[in-house]
Amino acid sequence: MIVKQLLDAKREGRELAAEDIRELIAAYTKGDVPDYQMSAFAMAVCCRGMTETEIFALTDAMRLSGACLDWTDINLPTADKHSTGGVGDKLSMVIQPLAAACGLAVPSLTGRGLGHTGGTADKLESIPGYNASLSLEAFKDVIARCGVSMTVQTPEICPADKKLYALRDVTGTVPSIPLIVASILSKKLAEGAGTLVFDVKCGRGAFMRTPEDAKALAKALVAGAKAAGRKAAALVTAMDEPLGWKVGNALEIQESIDALKGKDIPVVTELSVEFAALMVSLAKDIPIEAARSECKARLADGSAYARFAEMVELQGGDLEAFSRLRDDPGLKIETVVAPQDGFIADVDSLAVADAALRLGAGRARLTDVIDPLAGVELPVRHGDLVHKGDPLARLYTKDRADRLPEAGAIMRSAFTFAEKRPTERPLILACV
Ligand code: URA
Repeated sequence: MIVKQLLDAKREGRELAAEDIRELIAAYTKGDVPDYQMSAFAMAVCCRGMTETEIFALTDAMRLSGACLDWTDINLPTADKHSTGGVGDKLSMVIQPLAAACGLAVPSLTGRGLGHTGGTADKLESIPGYNASLSLEAFKDVIARCGVSMTVQTPEICPADKKLYALRDVTGTVPSIPLIVASILSKKLAEGAGTLVFDVKCGRGAFMRTPEDAKALAKALVAGAKAAGRKAAALVTAMDEPLGWKVGNALEIQESIDALKGKDIPVVTELSVEFAALMVSLAKDIPIEAARSECKARLADGSAYARFAEMVELQGGDLEAFSRLRDDPGLKIETVVAPQDGFIADVDSLAVADAALRLGAGRARLTDVIDPLAGVELPVRHGDLVHKGDPLARLYTKDRADRLPEAGAIMRSAFTFAEKRPTERPLILACV
């Protein structure tokens, strides 16, 4: 393989041979291909795209760049859900223990947040003591004991993706469906679950802004997973408004616990049941209605919450201490109120994420330290009627009280009002 020739071929839009893609990724992982050539490759893929065969070869090469997990010893159907990320997206915390309570083993390697989308690992780490950086051995042990574990991707999994993603981040080559598919799928395939379910978020607060792009990504993820011999499905879901009532690490864990204990949280409960039911239906090969009923029953009888509590304990977390976090005397709270009467016509999820970030709930840079208590609570949603002076948002922070005025100003601009009740917006935009 001569890298320059591969770059010429891709620039001219020719299909690359699977063997050449494999060699390129193996050499890049070893450090034998420099970053400037890999950047050129990523840009050529961005501009020229890839065929399904090329995407599969790239995915497989990245999967094989590190360890691939095997769950045959567990003797249970295995499944995982992946989300492309959105504002207030806490669904993994509900879906994964729920699926485990329905009899699946759920190995879930997750990420940290950067920019406007929060990371599941950061959210879980707001539980005092929770270890979201398990070794692969400890990860397997937690799954063997309670059927579910959530921890950050270990360095052994897909090192090629780690290198390539960092490069894409600084070379304007993140928004490419073939590169996104290979990046997401290689990690999920290496994780080894037999069933993969994808939540492709669509809208202002998501990676994919249009339903067309979101559907194309969903189709490519499902096709790639099936080509690798896994059962797979995807839902394209709306991400214009934050998901649920709460945005911020400890706030989202609290909301997930409420949903796991059977409280009906708008959007969170409905989508959690839909995704968990898809996992259960595919993994156990049962009709979706039966899987949905099983999921609802496991939420109602407390077994989904019990799985979550068991996982947290096995990973060192203290839910008692978590329940006392909000009593911290250093926590500052400010309320934003409605400037007028009217129906809520829109809540801009990007503005909510920006306010939460400024209050300390996320990272603008990888090295930033997160304030677990920081975030935004939204007592109103799209379609609600409010009167002047009603609370629209509560802002929480411990470490960045100086930012409350700017976060408050952002939140005041996040709401759009209408005289008439706006029509309901669909939650699930497509099923793949
Ligand atoms: N998430 C990933 O893991 N990779 C991408 O390329 C985009 C989102």
